[in-house]
Amino acid sequence: MLGYAGMGLEEIGALESRRDVGFGKAGLMRKAMNAALMSLEPSGIRRINALARDTPGCIALALGEPEFDTPSSICSAVVTALEARDTHYPPNNGTESLREAIAAYMRHPSTGDARLRYDPDEVIVTAGATEALSVALAALLDPGDEVVIPTPAFSLYESIVRSHHGVPVPLDTTRRAFQIDAQALSACVTDRTKAIVLCSPSNPTGCVLDAASLDAVAEALARWGLYAVCDDVYNRLVYEEGFERFAARHSELRGQLIVVDSCSKPWAMTGWRLGWIAAARPIAREIAKMHQFTVSSVPSFEMPALEAALTVSPCEMRRVYRGRRDRTVAALNAMGLPVVRPQGAFYAFPSISRTGLTSIEFCERAIREAGVALVPGTCFGAEGHVRLSYCVSDSDLDEALHRLARFVSTICVEG
Ligand code: PLP
Repeated sequence: MLGYAGMGLEEIGALESRRDVGFGKAGLMRKAMNAALMSLEPSGIRRINALARDTPGCIALALGEPEFDTPSSICSAVVTALEARDTHYPPNNGTESLREAIAAYMRHPSTGDARLRYDPDEVIVTAGATEALSVALAALLDPGDEVVIPTPAFSLYESIVRSHHGVPVPLDTTRRAFQIDAQALSACVTDRTKAIVLCSPSNPTGCVLDAASLDAVAEALARWGLYAVCDDVYNRLVYEEGFERFAARHSELRGQLIVVDSCSKPWAMTGWRLGWIAAARPIAREIAKMHQFTVSSVPSFEMPALEAALTVSPCEMRRVYRGRRDRTVAALNAMGLPVVRPQGAFYAFPSISRTGLTSIEFCERAIREAGVALVPGTCFGAEGHVRLSYCVSDSDLDEALHRLARFVSTICVEG
């Protein structure tokens, strides 16, 4: 059954019928490729974005791409590094100086949390959070291992788990304002469960996990010896007091935690492909092997730029995003689309159930009839919702919200 781990009979049948068995030049039958990978579709978000691009005048609120440019002090650091010909193979996990700077950044109260105590040799610099998540899960999973994913969730988690022959187990949070309930979590755990993925603030909801949710997860980790992969890429973009990171609140579990961070969102560095992992030594040691086999290291001349980024405050971007969050929530309320008030990141995830449309129908019609692109909730495992990104310019956001209000009022009259 290797390659079909965790799939039901129907899924296996469907996959078999799609298996790409063909004949090579020598006339020999070609064997099928990785079945788990073949079962995955390319990202739904990008498909919607392509549809939006083909629609003249459409405003895309579909991608998690900050409209800001990378601050110039960060860009200058890479120029200086190139002028100094810092173009040779660097240490796999990042230079000592960079890993020391990341460890200090994580434990400093103004940029991290004093309870996040990692030594430089417990830090691995990665090609964004994407590589970090992939190598972390590769290091954890054996075929058939289950990973609990509080849902709605960023679709990359499911794709990575499946492509490593693991089994994603969704934990529905939609009826609990996107919080984690201890009983619902226990119901997802089996003897194959290896890990849970946490994302707070969340993509796609913008919600942060409250103390009760974090404690429920901690209890599960302690009880069953599970790992938590904490995707903290939005931890610098939080708009309310009282936010706590799981790895800080439950630092007593550090031997079971993998903390993932990224430069993409707080410093508008999506194109640089920089991020990092912090994990206790025995875990970091295994992940470091996967990192070495996958990318070897991030580019040498980007490392000083990451070090420079750590000294740049995302305060101004956060102020702007918070204003956009407030305008977005007010507009959605006025449209009569219920939304759990996002406390961080730059997404809102309103319910569209009162329109009577599926989320795909809603998004396709919004592109065609209103010239606004959103992402269907099904891309995050939650029908009946859509994701709206407010990391676009003020003028685009205001115009898009205006168009959306008109569109919603039309379909609600139709309904
Ligand atoms: N994790 C979450 C929750 C995200 O939203 C994203 C990107 O949108 C990533 C990880 C990937 O980030 P990176 O650009 O660092 O690969």
